[in-house]
Order: sequence, then structure tokens, then C-alpha cells
Amino acid sequence: MLLCMETTPNSLQAAIIHFANYENCHKFMVDLRWPDGKVTCPACGSEKVIWLAKTRQWKCYGKHSQAKFSLKTGTIFEDSPLPLSKWLPCAWLILNCKNGVSSYEIHRDLKVTQKTAWFMLSRLRLAMQDDLTGGTLNGEIEVDESFIGGKIRNMHKSRKRIVQRHGSRMGNKSVVFGMLERRTGKVRATVIPDRKCDSIQNEVLGNIERGATIISDEFANSWEMPKKYVHQMVNHLETYVNGNVHTQGIENFWSLLKRGLGGTYVSVEPFHLFRYVDEQCFRFNNRRVTDAERFEMGMAQIVGRRLTYKQLTGKEPLDSRP
Ligand SMILES: [Zn+2]
Repeated sequence: MLLCMETTPNSLQAAIIHFANYENCHKFMVDLRWPDGKVTCPACGSEKVIWLAKTRQWKCYGKHSQAKFSLKTGTIFEDSPLPLSKWLPCAWLILNCKNGVSSYEIHRDLKVTQKTAWFMLSRLRLAMQDDLTGGTLNGEIEVDESFIGGKIRNMHKSRKRIVQRHGSRMGNKSVVFGMLERRTGKVRATVIPDRKCDSIQNEVLGNIERGATIISDEFANSWEMPKKYVHQMVNHLETYVNGNVHTQGIENFWSLLKRGLGGTYVSVEPFHLFRYVDEQCFRFNNRRVTDAERFEMGMAQIVGRRLTYKQLTGKEPLDSRP
């Protein structure tokens, strides 16, 4: 969804200046959430609401609990005491920095603690999760796997225990599985539990239309499904490009992902890896638009999503809403 709001800033510098003014934040959020200008209660949908300037909230006349709501209610910003003047530039940074942005950079640039910055970025990554209900990939699809990781000291405690107890064929590395649709240049990537045939076939069946052409290297020997897909393989021991049969598109994505993970995010725990993969997918899939457009597209996804600190740290399941 492109909003093409005239007042959307077009550079980081402009975003910081623009959003330092509360009125600008207010206008931006209202345009984003209620494009026709009619503010409605998130709880009951009523238009009968009144603005309380003092507390910067609306009050709904409807008879229900949570009659008061703010610009943040029902978004990934809900319950955050941080002002939009910090949230919006932070969103600008993560949506537009090619290699990602670390919590230390946010801590320095936006004057919040590093822990707060880490939580802000994690919430924003939730907005960057692609909505995959838009159907399956078709045409020619480049399919590949990549190994990310993973010094054991950086691991989440629970993961560390598993790896230490069972050992793992992959050592400490996590496996990321990726599919790139050539027609649109869009990628889907996800962390998979292992490289077993079933795990990979599930991903392929769930994401790629039957009859599509899968292009991969020889790693597909163990899981290919000749009855369901046309499969073209390039043998990387001999050559990297054989006419149309190559995986250069998905390789580009891996190199961006690894640059971000190796440079910016030096110590990502495998527990959180999928969030960084989602983040890179979002920027990659929207690489052909301007920064202002990418910012609007990411912001359009903040509504209706939530992530609490307990969920983030694994103390509460992700799908439970408090
Ligand atoms: Zn209401």
C-alpha cells in the first residue's frame, strides 16, 4: 500500500527534524491510520470520539471499557512510553538502512538506552514481517539454503542447552531456506529446524505453486519432487551459471543478509534470527522504491500488530495477546 503522503520526509535528516514536532507526528499517524480523516474508535468502530488535548488521547462515547485511545493504540507502539518523535526516526532507520541498524546506533543517535533501542527495533521488525497470505510463488523460482551463525557464547540459553546436549550436525549454525521468484524479484526466507527432506519439502510445498520451475544447485538432490515441479540444477562444482540456470538472484539476498548479520548485528542469538531474516526480506523486496515510499509501506504494517517484552524474551508465547 502506497499512501504517497506529501509531507512524508525524504531523508533521515529530514525525518528527525520533521518528527521532532509533535503536530507533524500527529498528522502523519492520523493520515496513516485514518486516511479519510475520520478518526474511529479502535474498540467499537464508532466515529463519535472527542480529542482530549491535555493527555493526547481520544475518548469514545460508546459504552465499553478502554474508551480512551491514542495514536499508538492497536499498533506495535501500544503501551510504549516513548514519544513518536523517537519511534518514527527509529522506524525510518531500520526500514531504510541497507545493512540494518544496531541497537547501539539507535542508543547513540536517539538518546535512549541500548536495551530500549533493542526492544524498539524488535517491535519494528514485527511490522517488517511480510504478509504471506498473498498466494504462492510461481514461474521460475531460485531456491537455496544458507548457514548463519553462530558462536555458542552468543546463543540464547535454551538453545545453548539443546546444542550442548544433542550436538548438531550443523554445529552451531542455523539453516535459512530461501526462495526467489524471478518474475517479481521477491524473496521469501525462513529459518528451518534442520536440513531433512521433510523440512525442506514442507517449505517448498507451502510456498511454491505446483508446476513451477525450481532452479537450485545440487543441494536439491535430497529433496526434489519431480512429480510436482520442474527442476533445473546447476552443479556448483563445475560452474555457477549455465544459461538461465543459476542462483545469482538469491545469492544477492544472502550476501545482504550476511553483511547485515556479520557487520551490524554482531551477536544475534539463533532464537531471534528469524526477525533479522524478516527485516532483510522486507528491505530486499521493497528495494526498488524510494526511502520515503519504503517508510510508508513499513509504517502501514504497524497497525494490528503487537509484541510485548515477555513475548520477545520467550517468557510468553507469541500468539497470546494480553
Ligand atoms: Zn468505542
